[in-house]
Amino acid sequence: MSKALFNKVSEKDIEYLEKVVGSRNVSTEEADIITNAIDASSITFHKPEVVVWPDNAEQIIKILEYANRVRIPVYPRGGGTSNVGTVPLYGGMVVSLRKMNKICEIDEENMIVRVEPGVIYDALNKKLEKFRTIFFLQIHRVVLHVLLVGWWPQMLRVVGL
Ligand SMILES: Cc1cc2nc3c(=O)[nH]c(=O)nc-3n(C[C@H](O)[C@H](O)[C@H](O)COP(=O)(O)OP(=O)(O)OC[C@H]3O[C@@H](n4cnc5c(N)ncnc54)[C@H](O)[C@@H]3O)c2cc1C
Repeated sequence: MSKALFNKVSEKDIEYLEKVVGSRNVSTEEADIITNAIDASSITFHKPEVVVWPDNAEQIIKILEYANRVRIPVYPRGGGTSNVGTVPLYGGMVVSLRKMNKICEIDEENMIVRVEPGVIYDALNKKLEKFRTIFFLQIHRVVLHVLLVGWWPQMLRVVGL
């Protein structure tokens, strides 16, 4: 893939994003840009141009439709604890899922939970205590604060899928 395939984020793009998620949930501040330019691997550093924090699926749909239309690359971001260098290689937009942290449903009988993508292990496991069970990847104190969803795409990348 080439950088030439993508456009830079413009003022007009920022205005659109602010309309969708509110101006408090869009940032081009250096502190936000830098913290989203690295992950736990520390092997690569690539800055996004903008970071957004949606809090529902409808907002994500609007963001993705727009980004696709204006050709801005999008990187979903969970806890940023991946250790394989999953950072914004082509600039563009980080969509942070931290605000989408609801545990929607616990189906005890079938042992299924339905969560939003920003739920962290620790929060889920606290909810599961009363059922005397845990979500399994509880291997390290830091991992308790890892977001659930980022783990899966990261592992697909590790095994080369
Ligand atoms: C101390 C430590 C120990 C670890 N031990 C293990 C281990 O034993 N086994 C193991 O498998 N892993 C381990 N990991 C890695 C672990 O898998 C990752 O830290 C974690 O799963 C990444 O989740 P994240 O939410 O921080 O994702 P991020 O780092 O934010 O993202 C990782 C990737 O997933 C993508 N992504 C994130 N959210 C979404 C989403 N909602 N939809 C689509 N794509 C998304 C991102 O774009 C990125 O490509 C360890 C990490 C640490 C720091």
